[in-house]
Amino acid sequence: MTSLFSSQVRSLVQILKMFNVPSRSQHVIPDHIKEIADEVSPKFFEMVSYFFHSAAAKIEENLIHSMLAQKGSKLTEKQAKARVTGIFALLQKCLYVGEFNFPIRRDDGRYEVIEGYRAQHSMHRLPAKGGIRYASDVDRDEVTALACLMTYKCSCVQVPFGGAKAGLKIDPTQYSLGELERITRRFALEMAKKGFIGPGIDVPAPDMGTSEREMSWIADTYSKTIGYKDINAHAVVTGKPINQGGINGRAQATGRGLFHGVDVFIKNSYWTDKVGLAEPGWKGKTFIVQGFGNVGFHAARYFVRAGAKCIGVIEVDGGIENPEGIDPMALFEHRKATGSIKGFEGSTDMEGDELFYKECDILVPAAKQLVITKSNAEKLNCKIVAEGANGPTTPAADTILQNRNILVVPDLFNNAGGVTVSFFEWLKDLNHVSFGRLTFKYEEDTSKLILQSVAESLKQHFGEDVPIHKSDELDAKLQCASEKDIVNSGLQFTMERAAMNIQEVAKKYELGLDLRSAAYISSVTKIVETYNDAGLAF
Ligand code: NAD
Repeated sequence: MTSLFSSQVRSLVQILKMFNVPSRSQHVIPDHIKEIADEVSPKFFEMVSYFFHSAAAKIEENLIHSMLAQKGSKLTEKQAKARVTGIFALLQKCLYVGEFNFPIRRDDGRYEVIEGYRAQHSMHRLPAKGGIRYASDVDRDEVTALACLMTYKCSCVQVPFGGAKAGLKIDPTQYSLGELERITRRFALEMAKKGFIGPGIDVPAPDMGTSEREMSWIADTYSKTIGYKDINAHAVVTGKPINQGGINGRAQATGRGLFHGVDVFIKNSYWTDKVGLAEPGWKGKTFIVQGFGNVGFHAARYFVRAGAKCIGVIEVDGGIENPEGIDPMALFEHRKATGSIKGFEGSTDMEGDELFYKECDILVPAAKQLVITKSNAEKLNCKIVAEGANGPTTPAADTILQNRNILVVPDLFNNAGGVTVSFFEWLKDLNHVSFGRLTFKYEEDTSKLILQSVAESLKQHFGEDVPIHKSDELDAKLQCASEKDIVNSGLQFTMERAAMNIQEVAKKYELGLDLRSAAYISSVTKIVETYNDAGLAF
């Protein structure tokens, strides 16, 4: 009887699959999460949970059906449902969260206890991956939310890692270089002692308030202590300086990824028509960026290089505006020299808030979470929100933006360039050789031989020399191939493939402008498949 029933279910599944029909959802969203849909300032972790649950509700039945339809599957429908429900339950929690409290001595002799966290959300792939943030408002909620986002982000762009995040509750500007080094090294040691970092377990990277300098201290601390017998010890963190096992292109990777992410949508008339942009492409498009740090600065550089115009920059201490365009590189130098973006030649100083609502084509939030909320989403005056920061838009704001035909290119896809290139760096560290070192010369010689063969064939055919013209682009590729070229093309490929996938999902589930749900669906589907294939529990 049971087997007759399951075979009927399977036939139904085959029919649904043939017609590609998304089926009725069963997943129950917990009541406290449902309320997030309308909240002005939800808790960050609950907000990410909300996005996860919304996606889960849309795909649960399809996941059950594909488990049943899997070749050789002996699962009953009840068992498949139990498995999907189990995986969803697991994803609602962080697997491990470590709270760290350790003392350091300040330069003036005082002692201070530093508070920090490392959260590992999912280890369905190893190692887990996620940055370390230094900020005075870091707390458990923020770190766990960011760890969840890392799980979904890695899966969205097919980087085979779990999700993690760390944060130290400090304002890095209030500490000397020596103090920061002591804090960072001690934190690295504490995390290593408790199994929260390791090249095959959990691999941090930079985030707000940290950079390659901190990563270098962590790699050094780990390799000289717990990891001293491990030949791969330097793979314990990514985002390192090149001479410490870093990779060319990592520093700018998130900004560059942001560019490739938006590039796919802005060049496609299907999307530009939907949001009411006059024509596809970058030329003449205006943008405003919030947060001129690693992500915001590099994204602005690539947007401008593609033909867009930066008309405003917003920082913690205010903003600047110039309708004629702001040169990101010159602004970077100005801030380096003066300590602020304000007073930049040709630009007008503004209140940051005001600038956030100025008319532009693309708004790039690249600073902090929860900056676009139910209380200000109506005031945005842009066509595209290109999320550089993690979690800048709340669920309520997301709905308002969709209703206003504003396209949100979501964080878990759009800022995944950093983790993508971190993946390449980790692979480089494990291989102990830079990309291209074994192949550059071989490929150059092969390409020259191909050109030579073509020239000889043409001569044989026409009876005379036919000059072969190498384009400048080809010449440059042949002569100046570098690790950075390989990294950049790998990054572009990754972003474009993920964008394609998100668009297919959006179409299949008729999501309209809701690319965030599409990205979560794409991501959660892959995670469930991984857990299912590997087995969820002992
Ligand atoms: P960063 O520390 O290099 O830069 C952040 C900048 O934002 C700083 O210049 C800071 O002054 C500014 N800022 C802070 N609060 C602000 C506010 N309220 N208004 C305007 N400006 C403000 O940090 P980052 O690495 O560029 O990270 C920025 C965001 O991008 C974070 O949400 C981070 O999680 C996310 N992100 C970073 C990476 C990465 O590779 N660095 C990758 C993915 C996502």
